[in-house]
Amino acid sequence: MTAQESVDYQMQIDFLSVINRAAAKKVSDIHVIVADSTLIMFRVNGMMERELEYSQEWGEAFVRAAFASADISDANYAQNEFQGAQKLGSTPLRGTDGKLTLPHNVLAIRLQFNPVAFGSQYLVMRLLYADDNPNGNGDLKSLGLGERELNLFYRLRATAVGLNIVAGPTGSGKSTTLQRNMIKLIQERNGEINVITVEDPPEYPIPGARQMPVTNANTEEEKDEEFTKALSAALRSDPDVMMVGEIRSLSAADLVFKGALSGHSVWSTLHANSAPAIITRLRDMGVQPYMLSDPEIMKGLISQRLFRKICPYCRISVKERMSDPSFQRLKTALGDYGIENTYLRGPGCKYCNHRGVIGRMSVPEIIVPDAHFLQLMVKGDTKSAIDYWVSELDGRPLREAAIERMLKGYIDMDEIERWCGLLDQRPIY
Ligand SMILES: [Zn+2]
Repeated sequence: MTAQESVDYQMQIDFLSVINRAAAKKVSDIHVIVADSTLIMFRVNGMMERELEYSQEWGEAFVRAAFASADISDANYAQNEFQGAQKLGSTPLRGTDGKLTLPHNVLAIRLQFNPVAFGSQYLVMRLLYADDNPNGNGDLKSLGLGERELNLFYRLRATAVGLNIVAGPTGSGKSTTLQRNMIKLIQERNGEINVITVEDPPEYPIPGARQMPVTNANTEEEKDEEFTKALSAALRSDPDVMMVGEIRSLSAADLVFKGALSGHSVWSTLHANSAPAIITRLRDMGVQPYMLSDPEIMKGLISQRLFRKICPYCRISVKERMSDPSFQRLKTALGDYGIENTYLRGPGCKYCNHRGVIGRMSVPEIIVPDAHFLQLMVKGDTKSAIDYWVSELDGRPLREAAIERMLKGYIDMDEIERWCGLLDQRPIY
């Protein structure tokens, strides 16, 4: 090794030690902000926490080492460009002669390198854990879904043709929900169907499915092109059920609808804020209204959020905060029953590592639309569509589903208001 090589190698060891530290805490994202000094922040259970502070020089070397360790990346790190890369857990860090590997419970890391104003660099790393998905041992129920929602998922899985979409912002757990659902679907059909997935990249193993990765893509245009190619290939490979990682472009959407129109069951995810907004988003992308208003194609519209679960050992009754305005809002919305059964995050105790919260739960809203609902949505009359869904189709908006968990003592009232709007007002869509 030359002197420079040994400095680089030392930096890769530092890179790995930050990853190890994060993996031990089940951190979902590591943020490395390099400016006059370097700040490393961890996102744990959805919340950002300051973790480490170092010099600017260290941070710049750290970012270069992270780039050098990745599997797929451009040849050179360019400080002034947006660049994406990934590192799989199955192979050693590049340039370390097989000596350095990711911690065993990390399946992959996705890296995003960004130039920033007034600083020098901003690196964000998303950690994907192998033990989040113990080969299907954890099912939809263990994610936090209730009987009513499990039943709706069951009905959607039993429908042989059509499109089902799980929506939510980044970090809402939609990929995990979709993966658990696909595992269940394969189990229910005794593996007698051909399930093909197209993902960029495959996030979690789905036993029994053919998972096709999208590779060799650096820029967004290349990604879109490669994704479309993989999707067309999947359609020609005799699938019964297809899972498409995410609908990001009109060309991907066109192929997804082609799959549903040609007699397949297709499952995918989409960046949209609510279940009704799936229709709006697809319409804005350029999908034809006649397809969006056809209930034979649009089968399941699902949206979800992850809520932190409050620690049952140190939670406190909402009655201890009677002077707070939120107490009045709760009383207006849910009356005495609400007050008797609502809890807040406590101060922390030995059972929750002094955090007041233990893990998270998925809370979904699920629309099984009919023609009238879809027509209202396509026309842009979201309010009438939601009123119709709730009153005529027995719909339950996300906030109602979350309030049910709140009244069982799982979720804190503040968290519900943060995600779903104030309790005494109409839900936001
Ligand atoms: Zn506690």
